[in-house]
Amino acid sequence: MPLYEENPIELYNSLTRQKEKFEPLNPPHLGLYVCGPTVYSDVHLGNCRTFISFDLVYRYLTHLGYKVRYVRNITDAGHLENDADEGEDKIAQKARLEQLEPMEIVQRYTLGFHEVMSKFNAHPPSIEPTATGHIVEQIDTIQKILDNGLAYEVNGSVYFDVEKYNKEYDYGQLSGRKIDELISGTRELDGQSEKRSPLDFALWKKASPSHIMRWNSPWGEGFPGWHLECSVMSTKYLGEQFDIHGGGMDLKFPHHECEIAQNKAANGKDTVRYWLHGNMLTLNGARMSKSTGNTLLPAELFSGNTDKLEKGFYPSVVRFFMMQAHYRSQLDFSNEALMAAEKGYNRLMEALVKLEKLEAGGNPTGFDIEQWRRDCYAAMNDDFNSPILISHLFEAVKVINGAEEAASGFTEKELQLLKSTLHDFVFDVLGLLPPDSDSSNDKLDRVMHLLIDIRAKARADKNWALSDQIRDELTKLGIQLKDGKEGTRYSIH
Ligand code: AMP
Ligand code: ZN
Repeated sequence: MPLYEENPIELYNSLTRQKEKFEPLNPPHLGLYVCGPTVYSDVHLGNCRTFISFDLVYRYLTHLGYKVRYVRNITDAGHLENDADEGEDKIAQKARLEQLEPMEIVQRYTLGFHEVMSKFNAHPPSIEPTATGHIVEQIDTIQKILDNGLAYEVNGSVYFDVEKYNKEYDYGQLSGRKIDELISGTRELDGQSEKRSPLDFALWKKASPSHIMRWNSPWGEGFPGWHLECSVMSTKYLGEQFDIHGGGMDLKFPHHECEIAQNKAANGKDTVRYWLHGNMLTLNGARMSKSTGNTLLPAELFSGNTDKLEKGFYPSVVRFFMMQAHYRSQLDFSNEALMAAEKGYNRLMEALVKLEKLEAGGNPTGFDIEQWRRDCYAAMNDDFNSPILISHLFEAVKVINGAEEAASGFTEKELQLLKSTLHDFVFDVLGLLPPDSDSSNDKLDRVMHLLIDIRAKARADKNWALSDQIRDELTKLGIQLKDGKEGTRYSIH
């Protein structure tokens, strides 16, 4: 029996605001879509939290035996400076400021994003589509919505007609906002606007002469609205109905609300079965956000090169810190919280090392491994409750640490089950890495310091042959040693 049959999941559906039994449309196949980053700057740790939360979801579903098609997009066009369809495209603006091609900006920050995600040991998605790679499909969807009478064209732009849509369907379903309140909350159109209502949003925007990212369309040269890409790319790769759509909770409105409306307007369907939203990472109590400058970059966190931290932290410690909170709870970042997470992570990893040395036999512990294993699954089946899972993992840590000498107090079978369950949850599901699996750069650095120390000792012993040999062989490899007042440094060419 596959694991997923033994483990029915309950998940909190933001659309119905309650926990629901998860019933996949087409098991063992599963469709998961997560809104990806807008690649105009380095991702901050807040962005990372959302992607790591959904990496946990993906990992657990895969662990249960589902065949998950995981789609996470790259927003490389159409995301304007503010949500009211105004301002410059974020990527075009950065390209203008840095005098680069927009695609150079996209390339740089997409690579940076991938690098950070791999440091956090997050799996890449099965498909990572880009908005600019799907302009044709976006134009087709706009045409469908126009044909269905729920959008209108003005002067080369196309807008979604929210009020007309709301007469037939329910706009505000996800965010719980009522259309009348939304209207009274928005400022009046100033007579200059092309929109019929301030709530309408752009599906296609006419490009002004200075707008550098532009494509041909039946309505003239322009570019797609931000919300459209996710509707189009999720349905292209996962079908007109699919299982799970995720993102940070700040995307509920307007982004996801507009996605729901676009899908319904284009194909009449409720596309997404379960909407999952991750809560925010905060710093000093305020949401981490690029626009307010209240951020911390992963590079600063790993190196410790910031006044917000006493030292750098290993990526898996940071991942562990995030997993200690449920994905729907707010999490506040601080030096103290990370120091505590580091202690917990080290305790867990040390117990795993000790476990390898334990043998069957000895006084029975009374610890029911079968039951404990069921508890671990039950925690994750309950809306991916990683903090409860971690508390169960530490029950096992306590038992392992309590074992005297090599005798575990378990039978061979129990010991194997304990090992395999811990490995499954710690490495496969939580996605933690053991401390010695540092990146190859760190390893090279350690090896270099070792060689430098051996050479220093050789010189102190007047063993010139050895010290010269070390320097010369390194030179052949393109590594230069430079002796200075503060010791020897190396550079790689
Ligand atoms: P963006 O690149 O702005 O489109 O954001 C990418 C993802 O990061 C979205 O899913 C956001 O919801 C998420 N996000 C932004 N800020 C935070 C934060 N402080 N904590 C958690 N997730 C965030
Ligand atoms: Zn999206």
